[in-house]
Amino acid sequence: MTSLRTDYCGLLRAADTGRVVSVCGWVDRRREHGEHLAFIDLRDHTGIVQCVVDEKHDLRSEYVVRITGTVRNRLDGTVNESLATGEIEVGDCEVEVLSVSEPPPFPLHDRVDVDENIRLRHRYVDLRRPRMQANLRLRATVNAAVRAAMERQGFVEVETPMLVASTPEGARDFVVPSRSSPGSFYALPQSPQLFKQLCMVGGIDRYYQIARCLRDEDLRADRQFEFMQLDAEASFVGQDEVFEFIGEAVRDATEAVTGNRIGDIPTMTWADAQERFGSDKPDVRFGMELTELTDVFDATEAKVFQVDCVKGIVYEGGARELGRNAIDDLTDSCKRWGAKGLAWFRVQEGATLDGALTKFMSDAELAAVPERLGAAEGDLVLIIADTRRTVNHVLGLLRLELGRPPVNEGGLDFLWITDFPLFEALDEAGNPIPAHHPFTMPHPDDLALLAERGDALLQVRSQAYDLVLNGWELGSGSVRIHRRDVQSQIFELLGIADEEANAKFGFLLEAFRFGAPPHAGFAFGLDRLVALLAGEENIREVIAYPKTQSGSDPLTNAPTPIDARHLEELGLRVLPPAT
Ligand code: ASP
Repeated sequence: MTSLRTDYCGLLRAADTGRVVSVCGWVDRRREHGEHLAFIDLRDHTGIVQCVVDEKHDLRSEYVVRITGTVRNRLDGTVNESLATGEIEVGDCEVEVLSVSEPPPFPLHDRVDVDENIRLRHRYVDLRRPRMQANLRLRATVNAAVRAAMERQGFVEVETPMLVASTPEGARDFVVPSRSSPGSFYALPQSPQLFKQLCMVGGIDRYYQIARCLRDEDLRADRQFEFMQLDAEASFVGQDEVFEFIGEAVRDATEAVTGNRIGDIPTMTWADAQERFGSDKPDVRFGMELTELTDVFDATEAKVFQVDCVKGIVYEGGARELGRNAIDDLTDSCKRWGAKGLAWFRVQEGATLDGALTKFMSDAELAAVPERLGAAEGDLVLIIADTRRTVNHVLGLLRLELGRPPVNEGGLDFLWITDFPLFEALDEAGNPIPAHHPFTMPHPDDLALLAERGDALLQVRSQAYDLVLNGWELGSGSVRIHRRDVQSQIFELLGIADEEANAKFGFLLEAFRFGAPPHAGFAFGLDRLVALLAGEENIREVIAYPKTQSGSDPLTNAPTPIDARHLEELGLRVLPPAT
């Protein structure tokens, strides 16, 4: 069959007048025109064109039609400025109905808010909406740009398996029962981490893959069970080279979408990010930084400030903007986040403080607080006093609550966060829990600290880094351990007994016996990058067939039970749900 069309709907212009064209698409809207004519808005992925057809055709919404006619200028006064094709229409039309449609399950106009379950149940209809069309095309642009950037930089695409043994990324595995070994299971990869490291031992030198990763975690706006990462690893390189090649991929992808090239991505240490923004993924599109006040209250009489750490932020104009109820709500939030309370002051004329706690404060303290914070009349000063960890955490959240711009405003602020701690906490047995994964190289200056036990271990820094965009964690990576003795030492520290380490990662330790080059790598989530470039709050808007928040797919009804015979073949028995 030759192509049914000569032109795309949305691309016809005044320069096409006089041409006989065939356009194909879906009936977007129909309006009666006089007695015998109707205006049909015909839609394809490029946009809409108006066609004037005879009344005898009973064309309904979402019918698929082919229209052949002559492009002509619209009459004066009927030009539609808001439509790219608004100067012309297709007249003298012949219409061929290619497929009929029942009334669509929801209106397709972006301005109509439709329940997400209904959208996902009929995703094929939802995908016709301009928003989804634009998002999926933007996604393809990003994929292509990232792929091209990696190829240009000498990276080799290697595909790694989907049926694997467990890869620890800190989440639960999805498992697949094996029919040939009943009682044994494959895990679906949480990431290609171990395989990409083995590629380095295998001399691939520079590996990349646009990899599907699967993690059985609670779903959120920025999290799905399965997601796509640009996954990369390189040999004989350190952190700086990783920043360079991943930075290129990110710069190219951003440029392909926005037309603007971002500059070098700035770096900030994890410790600075905590102190200044109270977060390991700071949104630096706005200021409102956390300011140290501990020393101001060194000799304070005020009980609330006789603690480890006191810090504050300023909400500009907040004294006028926020009433008592709003401030009480903020106080409740701070308590929910772990603080004992929130100390707040309205700043008045002459930078004097007004608030319930002023009567417990000395003149020097009353003067120093607004001065240190740079607070002016009309501002609201918000202070948390507690352990340093709690102060940073709570003020960090308060800052976001009060200052964070909407997702599609304030530009794109990429940031590398470096020098993450190697361990994030101790478990009940007192063993440290890795902050990244157990293959991360400790910071060279902190190697001696590895001999310590208990809390001192939490001071050990690692050569792990994250890429952050507008307060979203885009991805993580690290310089890896490539020596068997160091890797064994870390496993031991983590309380992974030799036997267990051997059972789980024996193949990696064994590979390290046969000449492992120093290597480092990174992976970032394409869904998140695409969502932020598209100005979407939720990654489901940039995924063709996502799961709902509860993990189901209303389109295919997955997950579904399997029949008894199949279960038997797999050697499985399903227990009745616990009551
Ligand atoms: N495998 C890691 C992850 O998926 C990324 C990396 O360390 O390269 O988060």
